[in-house]
Amino acid sequence: MAGEDSGTGTEPRSPAQRCDLCGGADIRAIYDRDRRGKPLATGICWDCGLIMHMPVPSEAELARYYAEHYRRDYHGETRPSPRRVMRAWKNGERIAARLAPILPKGAAVLEIGAGIGCTVKALELKGFAAWGLEPNRDFGRYGREMLRARIREGRLEDLGENDHADAVLLVHVIEHLVSPRRALARIHALLPERGLLYLECPNAWAPHARMSKMFHFAHIYNFTPHTLLALAAECGFALERMFTDEQDPNIEVLLVKSEPRRAAHELAGHAEAVLARLAHYNWWRYHLRREYLARRWKKLLGYAEEYLRARRFERALIARLHAAS
Ligand SMILES: [Zn+2]
Repeated sequence: MAGEDSGTGTEPRSPAQRCDLCGGADIRAIYDRDRRGKPLATGICWDCGLIMHMPVPSEAELARYYAEHYRRDYHGETRPSPRRVMRAWKNGERIAARLAPILPKGAAVLEIGAGIGCTVKALELKGFAAWGLEPNRDFGRYGREMLRARIREGRLEDLGENDHADAVLLVHVIEHLVSPRRALARIHALLPERGLLYLECPNAWAPHARMSKMFHFAHIYNFTPHTLLALAAECGFALERMFTDEQDPNIEVLLVKSEPRRAAHELAGHAEAVLARLAHYNWWRYHLRREYLARRWKKLLGYAEEYLRARRFERALIARLHAAS
């Protein structure tokens, strides 16, 4: 672990910044733009390979950002569009179908950052005592009123003594947190022995991951499977099942509560490997890849189809859920 002025890198770095995974201070700048070309400083911890903002914003800065920009920047909507509802519902059904055979029957399942509540509702329909926490008031209200899902407004820090869960879901949430380590420690304390944690986040190790298309202010951290599993181990979570491989744009993993274990030191040399991987695809290679073009085309066709179907889908879904409750 290098001291403040002993680094071999020439990039400036914040003297106060410490890596959330390994505690290291040798955080080197790797990119200065977000995915839309706006200024955003991103660094990598040279000791473990964790990618993060430089500096990591404070909770207050983050709260301000979400209050002012998140919906506009990210989704461009103040209430979920039918297309968003349809996508979220399909995603919720995917997760519920995956977890239903694995979770204990009737388990209490808590989703942190539940969005509009589709995953919570899909798990409830499969017989689980599912509930969610969602900081965004509009999304939470939609979940409660339209989907009739058990969604409470709040964040992980708002969990109380009486809150209980046998399993926790963090789906595209951990990369948004100021301290993923603190969050995993809090979840560890909440869960019973052998409690489960299901996690999804973007995969910075995927071969298509490119720095000019990667970074976003809301994504404070970018994980590889290596850094994510090391952080999980440090916080007392062992790998139960990995659902994705290295090529996948997302990491989807089931973890089980165990004893905390030191793991960050096993990542020596990972930072170099991450950078080599991110540099592998240049702009032309990226955009001319056959798979890229095929995927892009399919995506565009998918959008058009979605626009036509989404409104009808949402109406039918809400009618069905209201008739059932
Ligand atoms: Zn580190």
